[in-house]
Amino acid sequence: MKRLVIVGGGNAGTLISNLLAGKLDITVIEPNEYHIYQPGLVDYIIGDVGEDKIKMPTRSVLKQSIKWVKSKATKIIPEDRAVITEDGQRYEGDYLIIATGGQNKSIFNLRGYHTLDEVRAIREEVLNPKGKNFVIGSLPGIIKCPAAPWELSFLIKRKYPDANVNVIIPAKQPPPLQVPMSNMFNKKASELGIKVYKGFVINEVNHNERYIVSTEGEKVKFDHLIIDTPIFTSFTELADKSGLIPVDKDTLIHKDGVFVVGDVNNTPTPKTGAAAHFQAEVVVNNILYEIEGNRSKEKYDGTAMCAVYSGIGEGMLVWLNYEKSKALGPISLYYHMKKMFTNLYWASLNGSIDVVLRPMVASIRKIV
Ligand SMILES: Cc1cc2nc3c(=O)[nH]c(=O)nc-3n(C[C@H](O)[C@H](O)[C@H](O)COP(=O)(O)OP(=O)(O)OC[C@H]3O[C@@H](n4cnc5c(N)ncnc54)[C@H](O)[C@@H]3O)c2cc1C
Repeated sequence: MKRLVIVGGGNAGTLISNLLAGKLDITVIEPNEYHIYQPGLVDYIIGDVGEDKIKMPTRSVLKQSIKWVKSKATKIIPEDRAVITEDGQRYEGDYLIIATGGQNKSIFNLRGYHTLDEVRAIREEVLNPKGKNFVIGSLPGIIKCPAAPWELSFLIKRKYPDANVNVIIPAKQPPPLQVPMSNMFNKKASELGIKVYKGFVINEVNHNERYIVSTEGEKVKFDHLIIDTPIFTSFTELADKSGLIPVDKDTLIHKDGVFVVGDVNNTPTPKTGAAAHFQAEVVVNNILYEIEGNRSKEKYDGTAMCAVYSGIGEGMLVWLNYEKSKALGPISLYYHMKKMFTNLYWASLNGSIDVVLRPMVASIRKIV
């Protein structure tokens, strides 16, 4: 049996390992005891769900035949398809998959909102706010799910209609493919009375006096500051200048036998769980093509998708690939789709809802 080593048991790594279980000898290297459904962190912050809804033991989301190494990779050697872990062990495969997601640096002492540890304090503040000024947004660079800061601001404004909710967007103009999404979000913000600062690049954060200042000298006061910071890979020796690991954008191949999947690769598509899922399926197919040969090769076309809450009972849907994009809604269907996915996510990790997911995605493709 061919050996597959997967570094990172998040969304992409878990799905790939489960879909290939039994067909290859699989080792997943993942340090965390719990797998987190990251889109659910927004529901958690706003108080809609508890921790139990968005986390599951790592062992329980991996099929039994998969070997889980509870350790952190400290070195990756693509030439050998090998990984060294923090305890000095070496793991080598016929295939190597890097699915380590994005890491964040602490910039201006800002806290991130990518892990449960980070968001517990944010949830506490959002549920018991000590002031009315919320400032939500991001620093320049590639962030996880660019819709998340908007979604959080919509939900907070709906929860506290009297609050002053401000959204900080570093870009003056969105990239062309994100224009439909940006227009839809800006329209909703304006309807809700949310102030949007476009082209606001944070240059200073004064945590004591509670204000931020842009590179152009504009000052915005806050009581509650929720600012996302850009992602990069901690394996900097493998990264290109984007901070992420380069791949062929159609095949997700970094080097012979080495695939890089999900947030950690440099594909020009927003970093979303949906993109990670679709990329994982392409890689699984193409590995099976090589070892079983009973299918044709597939290409990843850049598809990413994100349902975004714009209120309670109201949601939007953003869809794009490498060539085109569309923003749909707001309607109640997208809200309920996203809510339902909080439960379906766990089944999506072993491909068991693909019978529903595939026709759904195909019908969305037809609309757009
Ligand atoms: C607040 C928030 C809201 C979001 N909302 C949405 C949404 O609405 N829709 C959507 O589609 N996406 C959303 N996303 C993005 C989505 O969660 C990510 O795109 C998705 O999880 C990426 O999957 P991944 O497998 O690439 O990385 P991850 O799921 O982050 O998994 C990476 C794994 O690698 C492990 N790892 C890291 N370093 C090492 C190492 N050195 N050794 C071993 N293992 C390592 C980590 O522990 C982690 O388990 C959101 C994200 C956040 C934070």
